[in-house]
Amino acid sequence: MRKLAKEYFGKFKKMLEDQAAKLKSRLKSEEEEPEFGDDVDSFEEEGDEAAELSNKLGLQQNSKAELEEIDHALEKIEEGKYGICEKCGKEISEDVLKANPESRLCKECKKNQNLYESVKGFFGIR
Ligand SMILES: [Zn+2]
Repeated sequence: MRKLAKEYFGKFKKMLEDQAAKLKSRLKSEEEEPEFGDDVDSFEEEGDEAAELSNKLGLQQNSKAELEEIDHALEKIEEGKYGICEKCGKEISEDVLKANPESRLCKECKKNQNLYESVKGFFGIR
């Protein structure tokens, strides 16, 4: 297995750290927003606010999940395992990492996984 150059890691480390900082500040500002329910005008509006809140919580969950992926990728950089597919052990190509620096899988495995997911969905397997 070819060891990837340190500068190569550095570039993605920076991208990951930037992304993590962005996500963290977004999560922080969302958590600081006042709770809804201060301006109860009508049931209709409350419904909208509830929908908005659940949407927001969903987004927060996504952001948190993404942060975990980023932390995982940063750990792999520290351990020298970054850029290696977790499934087949091959190198993840640079275009995949550029598009998705926290990617755990190479293009081929990702494709297979997506295929698997869609087949699972088709047959209703959970
Ligand atoms: Zn792979």
